Amino acid sequence: MPDRLDLGLDSLQGVAATTQRKLGKLGLTTVGDVLAHRPRRYETAADEVAIAALRQGEEVVVTGRVLNVEKRPMRGRRRTRIVARVDDGTATVSVTWFNQPWLADKLKPGTEVRLRGKLGRFGFEPRSYDLGEARATADFAPVYPAAEEIAAATVRRVVDAALPLAQHVPDPLPAELREREGLGLKRDALAAVHRPRDLHEAETGRKRLAFEELLVLQVGIARRAAEREQTLAPALGEPGDLIRRYREALPFALTPYQEQAIRQVDGDLARTVPMQRLLQGDVGSGKTVVALYALLRAVESERQGALMAPTETLAEQHFLTIADLCFELGVRCALLTSSSGKREREAAVGADVVVGTHALIQEGFELRDLGVAVVDEQHRFGVEQRSALVAGRAPHVLHMTATPIPRTLALTVYGDLAVSEIAKPPASRKPVITSWITEDRASEAYTRLTRLLREGRQAYVVCPLIEASETSLARAAEEEAERLRRAELRDFRVGCLHGRLKAAERRDLMARFKARELDVLVATTVIEVGVDVANATVMIVQEADRFGLAQLHQLRGRVGRGAEQSYCLLVSRAKEELTESAHARLQALVETTDGFELAEVDLELRGGGALLGTRQSGLSDLRFAHLRRDRDLLERARAAAPAVGPGPLSDAAAALFAEVDSEALA
Ligand code: ADP
Ligand code: MG
Repeated sequence: MPDRLDLGLDSLQGVAATTQRKLGKLGLTTVGDVLAHRPRRYETAADEVAIAALRQGEEVVVTGRVLNVEKRPMRGRRRTRIVARVDDGTATVSVTWFNQPWLADKLKPGTEVRLRGKLGRFGFEPRSYDLGEARATADFAPVYPAAEEIAAATVRRVVDAALPLAQHVPDPLPAELREREGLGLKRDALAAVHRPRDLHEAETGRKRLAFEELLVLQVGIARRAAEREQTLAPALGEPGDLIRRYREALPFALTPYQEQAIRQVDGDLARTVPMQRLLQGDVGSGKTVVALYALLRAVESERQGALMAPTETLAEQHFLTIADLCFELGVRCALLTSSSGKREREAAVGADVVVGTHALIQEGFELRDLGVAVVDEQHRFGVEQRSALVAGRAPHVLHMTATPIPRTLALTVYGDLAVSEIAKPPASRKPVITSWITEDRASEAYTRLTRLLREGRQAYVVCPLIEASETSLARAAEEEAERLRRAELRDFRVGCLHGRLKAAERRDLMARFKARELDVLVATTVIEVGVDVANATVMIVQEADRFGLAQLHQLRGRVGRGAEQSYCLLVSRAKEELTESAHARLQALVETTDGFELAEVDLELRGGGALLGTRQSGLSDLRFAHLRRDRDLLERARAAAPAVGPGPLSDAAAALFAEVDSEALA
């Protein structure tokens, strides 16, 4: 019998084709999808009041009819405001919705609306609403994630139609596991989540579903770890002469964190099980030194070391950092990117250490006897790319990331990876002072900038992030550079760095900036990683509210790399135009420079999937699990996983795990 949860929405009674299409746009195409659509929260009872009795700031429900509606543009791109006059017989109130332009057509005069929200600066500002007859009158009515063009009540109706089908599906979790963990049936949990009688019931149901999701990931991880134990890598001996010379050649002493990471790497390399270690450390914490150490350990045992970076700029930067040291040590080092010519390719084949982009794993290039592979910003590679690096051989692998991963998240996704952490950067740095101003005060940012430039400092100006092609991003950056050359920065030498430049042009520009032939670099996010100029101590980020938290933190890491005090000025659009989350992001950046703290904030704001940007992590499968709240569930799932792995599973569970194995956890 086909799984009922796999049935399309057309198998449900009373779900119109247009509704199906709209749900499809949200990625909800099957009965199972709809049931896995988690309510974001539950509506608790709020007082219904007459419009005449509305008071500022109090959360209430009002019901009335639309008199008229208009669309008003706002400052900034793509921002709209819908304003409707609503009357309930006692009085009339203006109701404002931001950025939901489609509402204009729905709020026809005469439409009955039920609004829950507060009276604020822009009149009544609804947090949720129902239009027409459909009503969420029950207490604890689920509120689903905001969806364009689809009324909350419609989602509720579809869920209602889907719930009975879940009643006949065999439970994916083996009975004894459920018993041991004190967990109920999946079908009851689904009903509890979508139709709770109280909030406790909803939370119990959510936990049951969350446990299952976490278990699926942990089983994948346990299987992956078991497989790896079967693979043989070359066991490397003790560090020798080359390593001794490397340490001597470094112009500084290693920090205790670096030393510890190196000891841990040595421990891994001595074993025949391939190393799978994650090296975490904030931007500028000194990971590269550790990476080169690992690569040189391979060279020492007459094998090749390879460092793979996600972008050409980053690969070049690594190469520039590493090449000098390698030369000094008599180690042949080469760069390989997709723009490398024939000669460069040949050099790369013969090199001891190859630094490159995914060109390293593309056809036509052969890594020879790979001993150690370092993957930088590993979450930016897909599963296929990462496994291609390892395919057919068994190198020791060191994954590096400057996006700190909160511990719960690391366990969920990288449970089989050993973790080394560089918790503090080399001592001499001062934390970057960050301020946030709105664009009407942007001139103050430039006043401060020019003052620092006159003192001999250099700066970055980061252009707004627009959803656009590389080409139009490049054009926007060029235009902004041109504007600044004429206006605020007319006394200074301004260069422009973007992704459309040829590799040689980009290198040249960076070299000139480094040599202080340029004062300011106007750039797109290509400077996000890898650029390292100690005298650059100021950064202005335009329309900073458009960037993600991790991205802003990465960008900020470009300054504060020398002994001088550095500054980061975040310029955002007007505060009332910002989403709550943008507000929280900018505030967090002002408050801390600690990447781990920021990662926790990001996890809270966006959830794990967004944090790692991934399908490959399997996090996109987490609907009900909440990584911050479910720490104990995660530990339980981890403990239960090895037993579930090889043992007998119900058919449904087997299918579940098989799917994850092949799809999410290669
Ligand atoms: P990451 O790769 O973690 O962003 P890097 O390895 O690029 O950081 O190091 C950032 C800067 O700090 C580099 O200029 C590097 O030479 C310097 N550095 C690394 N380790 C130390 C140390 N132990 N003491 C002083 N400076 C260091
Ligand atoms: Mg680095």
